[in-house]
Amino acid sequence: MNVLLIGSGGREHALAVTIARSPMCDTLFAAPGNAGIADVAECVDVNVSDHDAVIAFCRDREIGLVVVGPEAPLVAGLVDDLDAAGIKAFGPSKEAARLEGSKAFTKEICDRARIPTARYRRYDDPSAAKLYLSVIGTPIVVKADGLAAGKGVVVAETSAEAVAAVDACFEGGMAGGVVIEECMVGEEASFFALTDGTTVVPLATAQDHKRVGDGDTGPNTGGMGAYSPAPAMTPDLVARTMREIVEPTVKELAKAGITYRGVLYAGLMLTKQGPKLIEYNVRFGDPECQVLMARLKDDLLPLLSACADGTLEPTELSWRPETALTVVMASKGYPGSYEKRTEIANVDAAAAMEDVTVTHAGTAREGDRLLATGGRVLNVTALGKTVRQAQTRAYQAVDAIDWPNGFCRRDIGWQAIAREDAESGPETPE
Ligand code: AMP
Repeated sequence: MNVLLIGSGGREHALAVTIARSPMCDTLFAAPGNAGIADVAECVDVNVSDHDAVIAFCRDREIGLVVVGPEAPLVAGLVDDLDAAGIKAFGPSKEAARLEGSKAFTKEICDRARIPTARYRRYDDPSAAKLYLSVIGTPIVVKADGLAAGKGVVVAETSAEAVAAVDACFEGGMAGGVVIEECMVGEEASFFALTDGTTVVPLATAQDHKRVGDGDTGPNTGGMGAYSPAPAMTPDLVARTMREIVEPTVKELAKAGITYRGVLYAGLMLTKQGPKLIEYNVRFGDPECQVLMARLKDDLLPLLSACADGTLEPTELSWRPETALTVVMASKGYPGSYEKRTEIANVDAAAAMEDVTVTHAGTAREGDRLLATGGRVLNVTALGKTVRQAQTRAYQAVDAIDWPNGFCRRDIGWQAIAREDAESGPETPE
């Protein structure tokens, strides 16, 4: 079949490489794609916000499946419009995508299906929210309701911080309401599953690094690195997550008349009582997708296609047993302002290293030159027998890349490496 992939990030580059090598894929198109995706797909100039234009393109090129990478087109209802036009698409409908966009919607589903998550209350009025804060105490978590790309969450240690966070939620027209919830304690992990709305197939686990600075300091970002599997997610915790969180969610949505088709990404807190849901995302994580794709041995495309047409069969997928670890290279200044169009060299030398792949996010080619055009620019992924080995290999590849205007965190995987060291004693790096 011909496939159209929507998106332009490192996540989509990893998906593009995986889809392009499927025997089921004839021609892969990407809208808009990026300089790396152009190596494996034909990048096309179709305006993704113009759903009629996407539909016309799909008809013209006989697209058998549209794969939507980022959340924005999902929230904008691209899949609904493709569906109505009779074009098969991987990704949830606009209504199902509320699982990411509306914290209150997700909490309602959790309540009805008795899914373990933080206790919460939702307020439309700041003074009622503050009254509740005065009785509940701290630590407490304050979240803006609505799509805030992870930036609308404050884990408040003091009541002054909590009150300020409530005020911030109602400032500048951001009046989607506020959710105040119990602060859960534990290690965080991500769990991914594919579903066609009935059958749920577990993918794998990962852990990410949201803060810009080493030691998890500084402002939040889209993600500075990730690794898979998450050693904290034992097989028992994976089974509990499926049984207690993901499967009941899909069933509860179905009861509400919502068929969830796509990938479900559960952000979890591994508490003493077991895994609890922090939040759902309705698409692959970026850079979590890069580490998942580096480990997946099965052909992804038939699975995406089966999710889209409701024929997903229960399957146990095969994964490489190694750890995959991704380091994100970003433009100096990110997540604040940064210089654009700075030159990057030697990416090919890094990508040629053993068990290393380099995916592109914000890049453009100009003649022979590769330029950085975004905040997050390159993702360097390496496989290793241990997390430490994967980390060592990833940083060797990072160091082979010549980009004076770029930076990355130097400690991706620290939590898992500390665990490895505690279990077996420190390993000598290669
Ligand atoms: P969210 O946007 O809901 O994923 O929240 C972003 C981050 O805030 C999470 O990755 C957690 O680190 C933290 N967080 C969110 N909710 C809670 C909670 N109820 N208890 C503790 N930490 C939380």
